[in-house]
Amino acid sequence: MTEHYAVRMRKAVHVFCAGHFITLTDTLCEPVHGHNWTAAAEVEGEPDAHGMVIDFILLRDQLAAITTRLDHRMLLPTQNRFLDVTTAEVAPGRGEVTVRFGDRRWVFPADECLLLPVANTTAEWIARWIGCELLQAMATRGQPIRGTLRIEVDECLGQSAVWERRVTSL
Ligand SMILES: [Zn+2]
Repeated sequence: MTEHYAVRMRKAVHVFCAGHFITLTDTLCEPVHGHNWTAAAEVEGEPDAHGMVIDFILLRDQLAAITTRLDHRMLLPTQNRFLDVTTAEVAPGRGEVTVRFGDRRWVFPADECLLLPVANTTAEWIARWIGCELLQAMATRGQPIRGTLRIEVDECLGQSAVWERRVTSL
């Protein structure tokens, strides 16, 4: 008999409201829009001597710290070869981010943007970014995730992407 354990985390505190737009093809780019995204985490692994796969509270708080960074921000990718994203200081202490796609141009206040090292701000790659940040945050706090970490990012009710990584060693 084989048994598996997993803990799941998906709470109101893990909802973030953020803007984005993605390139759909090399010549097609969405208009700016936003979602009330929800991030959920699942950790699959062996319970410890106290019967816990992972510290629920720490997982909740670290995931919330990451989703808070995304909340009320314009999410922009820095690795999209069709989107030119540049940041410039337009006044002392005030920056602007300019995004260009062909002859289209968007300008955002820099402190209202979060630039992500992804090729597109799809739910898939946001899920991966959240997962990598969460792995690092948990390890830094002495509770490394061992086993499988699954992150689900829902961009509107019932439309979600899942990223998964099996952590064999750190
Ligand atoms: Zn969207």
